[in-house]
Amino acid sequence: MPTDIILKNANVITMDSARPRAELIAVSDDSIFFVGGDSELERLTGRTTKVIDCAGRTVIPGFNDAHLHVFSLVRKLLSIDLSPSSVRNVEDIKEAVRKKASATPPGTWISGTDYNEFYLEGKRCPTRWDLDEAAPAHPVVLSHRSLHACVLNSPALELAGINADTPEPPGARIERDLATGEPNGILIDMLNYIRSEVMPPFSDKELAAGAALADKYFLEHGITSFQEATVSNDLSRWETVCGLKLQGSLHSRITMMAGSPYWREFKKRNLKTGSGDNLMQLGAVKIMLEVQPEQVELNRLALECHKAGFQLAFHAVAEETVAAAITALEYVNKHSSVVGRRQRIEHCGECPPALLEKIKQLGAVIVTQPPFIYYSGERYLSTVPESQLPWLYRIKSPLEKGVVVAGSSDAPVVPANPLMGIYAAVTRQAESGQVLLPEECITVEQALSLYTNNAAYVSFEEKIKGALSPGRLADIVILSDDPTQVPPEKIKDIKVEMTIIGGQVAWEA
Ligand SMILES: [Zn+2]
Repeated sequence: MPTDIILKNANVITMDSARPRAELIAVSDDSIFFVGGDSELERLTGRTTKVIDCAGRTVIPGFNDAHLHVFSLVRKLLSIDLSPSSVRNVEDIKEAVRKKASATPPGTWISGTDYNEFYLEGKRCPTRWDLDEAAPAHPVVLSHRSLHACVLNSPALELAGINADTPEPPGARIERDLATGEPNGILIDMLNYIRSEVMPPFSDKELAAGAALADKYFLEHGITSFQEATVSNDLSRWETVCGLKLQGSLHSRITMMAGSPYWREFKKRNLKTGSGDNLMQLGAVKIMLEVQPEQVELNRLALECHKAGFQLAFHAVAEETVAAAITALEYVNKHSSVVGRRQRIEHCGECPPALLEKIKQLGAVIVTQPPFIYYSGERYLSTVPESQLPWLYRIKSPLEKGVVVAGSSDAPVVPANPLMGIYAAVTRQAESGQVLLPEECITVEQALSLYTNNAAYVSFEEKIKGALSPGRLADIVILSDDPTQVPPEKIKDIKVEMTIIGGQVAWEA
């Protein structure tokens, strides 16, 4: 067997309990065929072998982010960053929009993300009139950090058909000038409507540019696989992503869920969970519970998808929704066993002991977001009711119970940096320094498993991904430091230095 690549002189954390540590990895084609000591170097090196000297650095399996949203990430990466670290006031926002407008053909939408008036001087939101000054010839939409509010300028409001005569839409609000009734551009809970119904889909050029940015973003964070969890994923989106894979625009391996409104489209094409190959496969059916369907309806949907061969992935954050997902699984289980089908609870934000017990019995898995502890811990501690706090984003308890927990970012909700997630799972420290449930802290090895073998397990790929051992795909990351050796607070500063996918060096610092 010709050896294509050897990594030598490495501190290999294999995540394979049969051989936890090693010095050398040998790769042939897209897979690992040998893991062992440096003494084997000579025997394994051929004339054409590329030898990478790791100089003692740490080598781990490539990260797998088990839940993110790639099209939203693309949108964010193509947008102007208006987060507090980039702008101080409304004038800065106007300047940023003006700059983007000067480089964008008139009439083309301009997006900005993550403004937050709380952090702006004067605590003032930008309005349509501010944006009109900056970009009178482009429709502009700025989204609030919370995604609950957005601001449109006049051309954008016109395209959306929103004017002084527009009635308040149900469940949403149009802010207005009190004297004239004229909308001031600020819309509450209308962002999804604007994005899906008013703005055109990405042009091919935008998509190509955005995919290139997302690709680099994944690779520089060592993400060799990700699982796309968007409920609006339909067959055409599946085809779009397949196209990006075929063009080589996205190097990371992708497991893409089907949105529950569209599962029949996939079934008609004979696609179900596991269809595809190790570069691009169909995952679970994503079912939202926040706009909760009636339990009876949810049960029926879950049973139909299950019987059609799909894995299920329930979006469930609050205790009631986690309970509703479990009730649906119990219903399905009465008709056709769910054990072994690895039904996913996405987020599982509040999980008291009785629900955790049922998750265990049903053989369900949890896909959690450790970085939320860091980015939102302070907010949780001040807003979550005392009675729910002990059950918030627990990780150690389910792991000790034998429930498989996978790690993810829900990007672009928070940055998709697995090392930040590992840091948060180990320390449970919020950005503010407060600690959220110290009794739920896990070890570095456990935290690594969330993003490697456990993430592979929840998409039925643990035989080919998630550990460095013979026969598995050569998805490998070289780190600047050993997360098991540095002080916990330094884990988030560790950098990815090289990302290898299928035996190819896809990215290098
Ligand atoms: Zn999500």
